[in-house]
Order: sequence, then structure tokens, then C-alpha cells
Amino acid sequence: MDSHDWLDTECAALEQAGLRRHLRTVMSAPTGTINLDGRDVVLLGSNNYLGLSTHPQVIAAAVEATRTFGTGASGSRLISGNSERYTTLETNLAKTKHTEAALVFSSGYAANTSIIPVLADGDDLILSDALNHASIIDGCRLSRATKKVYRHCDVEHLKTLLSESTAFRRRLIVTDSVFSMDGDIAPLRDIYEVATHYNAMLLVDDAHGFGVLGKDGSGTVTHFGLEGTDIIQMGTLSKAVGALGGYIAGSRALIELLINKARGFIFTTGLPPATLAAANAALDVMCSSPELRQRLFLHAKCLKTALTDLGYTVLPSETQIIPVVLGSPQQTTSMADTLLAEGVFAPAIRPPAVPPDTSRLRLTVMATHTEAEIQQAIAGFATVFPKTR
Ligand SMILES: *Cc1c(COP(=O)(O)O)cnc(C)c1O
Repeated sequence: MDSHDWLDTECAALEQAGLRRHLRTVMSAPTGTINLDGRDVVLLGSNNYLGLSTHPQVIAAAVEATRTFGTGASGSRLISGNSERYTTLETNLAKTKHTEAALVFSSGYAANTSIIPVLADGDDLILSDALNHASIIDGCRLSRATKKVYRHCDVEHLKTLLSESTAFRRRLIVTDSVFSMDGDIAPLRDIYEVATHYNAMLLVDDAHGFGVLGKDGSGTVTHFGLEGTDIIQMGTLSKAVGALGGYIAGSRALIELLINKARGFIFTTGLPPATLAAANAALDVMCSSPELRQRLFLHAKCLKTALTDLGYTVLPSETQIIPVVLGSPQQTTSMADTLLAEGVFAPAIRPPAVPPDTSRLRLTVMATHTEAEIQQAIAGFATVFPKTR
């Protein structure tokens, strides 16, 4: 018996359940049409919502920063890795988010798994939406706090859970703003009122709202007119901003404590100069380009309407994320394979990313798609539909 035999057994079990994952190789930039494993296909699976990762101004900033400052940060931010580009970026983020301060982490995943254990520990309670992102779930686990999960976007359930749990030292409500696999928007105004009433902290993960919702793309909190409140905003620089990194925007006191206690901030190397410079340049373009958001929403509406008319089960998303639910993991991967053969890349999303029996194609559009590409995608879906009946 080999002590590693169980690895193959585990993979075989995943295969059996239709849950095995495989890597694909993208051989071009994430534009409307990509080269995937050697074939050109319309891309409906990128979070590069505004196309900023290939924007000439953004690329120029990244190249210039690399020439001047090299490729790596060479140290953690508290030792030698904290460059001027961080200061500029954090100042710009705080300004965009209407908060006193902001702090950049290596990724959105690191931001969530770092901040939650700082805000809550064994004496505290976390109230978490049932469909929150995995990085929030992992942050809750690391915190050792008691966790109660409220039904998706159900403010009454949240209220009940809060009223039943008064014995805790601190209470933290955490929610995605735009849900990553559903594209719906959390009722932030109601959640904020409940948080205020019960004196609970509120942390909002704006990974998919930043760059897309609110004035100048500043995000979901602005979309609801809640800027200037004490809502703690988490977000990422890896989606609409087209670079890499996560951030927390909030009060100066919060940022100060994170610098001192957030383990995913302290014990890791700073981001490369190119990444920070790209994020900075992208932020400028993002804030000054409302036409990108208009195009994004136009494409989303067009695709949603066409797929619904064709008879697909499209969840009522309000954003650029368009979930087409098929049910079983097997049905979903089979549909994704058929679409790929038609030249449309629509990623299959299966448990544990989504609840059992809700496997889906998670489609996303980009401002940089052309109308022809959106029509090509719709034609692919039209061809494929009868075969699945
Ligand atoms: C993508 C995502 C993250 C993680 O961000 P990365 O920068 O990719 O690590 C966190 N929360 C949500 C809701 C996300 O969709």
C-alpha cells in the first residue's frame, strides 16, 4: 500500500460525482474573443468587466513602473516592501470609497481572511449571508467566532438571529454586495438599518460592485447612498480594476489596527510595482469612464433578454453576472462543452461554489465585448438549446 493511494481515489470520486475540475489554458489577453487551448472563442467568463487589464494607459503605467522599480516588492510591507505606489493607491481608494483610509492586501481572498479574524474572535458572533463568497467563509473559520448563517438576503431572518443573540461581546454582519455566482444585489440599506439598530458592525464585500455600480463606479455602498457611514468596505483590484490585490476601506482607526494585527497583511510580501501602478492607472480610467459602465449594462441586458427568450432559466440578476441554471453538475459541464464546440466559452459552476442542484453557467459580459461578439454568443446558445431537451 502506498500512503498516497488515496489521492487517486479522491479524484476518481470527484469525477464520479461530476465535480472534478480541470485547468484550461488561455493563450491570449482577456478580451471579448480569446484563444482557449488553441481555438478562438467568445469569452463569457471574465471578471475584467471594464476591459481595463488591456487598456493602453494601464499597460503603459505597468511597463514604466517595472522599468523604474523592478519586478518585485522584495519584502513585506512592514519591513521593506511598502513603496510610494501603495500610498498613492490607498489615498485614491479611500477617496473613491469616501472613507478616511484604505489598506491594500495581496488579494481579495487575503483581505477577507485577514480582516474577519481581526474584527471577531471567540467571544464574538458573525452573521453571514448563506451565499457569501468562500473567502468570507474561510475568514469566519479562522476567526474562531460563533457563526450564524442567515437566509440569502433575508433581512427579517437576520433581525431574528440578532435579537436572539445578545450575549456576545461584539457582533459582525458580513455580506457580498453583488453576489458572485448570482449577480443579485444585497439589500444594503435595510441591512445597514438593522446593523445600526442592534449596534453590530457591517462588512460588505464589494468585489463585483466596485467599478460597476454607484457614481464613478465607486461601488454598491454609493449605489445605495450610504457613503460616509461606518460600513466597512472590502473589495478587489482583480476584477473591474483588471490588476491584482484586495483592499479594505474604512476608518483610520480600523486601518491602523489592521496594519498591526491582520496576519495576511503582515506575513506576506508586498505586491509588485507593475501591479500597483496598473491598479492606480485603472482607477483613474474607471472613475472617468461612465461610457464603459453603460456598455457593460447594455450588453448584460441584451444577453439576459435573448437567453430568456430562447427558454433558458436565467436568474433575475441586476448586474453583469448572468447565471443560467441547469441543475446537475453533469448537465452543466455537458452544456458548457457543447457551447465551447460552438465557439462560446461559458464556465460551468458547480458545488461547492454554488448550492447542490443549482449548478449553472455563470456568464459575465465586458464593456469591451463588441455587439457582434454578443450576437455570436447568443447564436451559440440558440444552436445548442434544442439538443438539451
Ligand atoms: C473574487 C472574489 C473575492 C476574492 O478576490 P481575489 O482578489 O480574486 O482574491 C472575494 N470576494 C468575492 C465576492 C469575490 O467574488
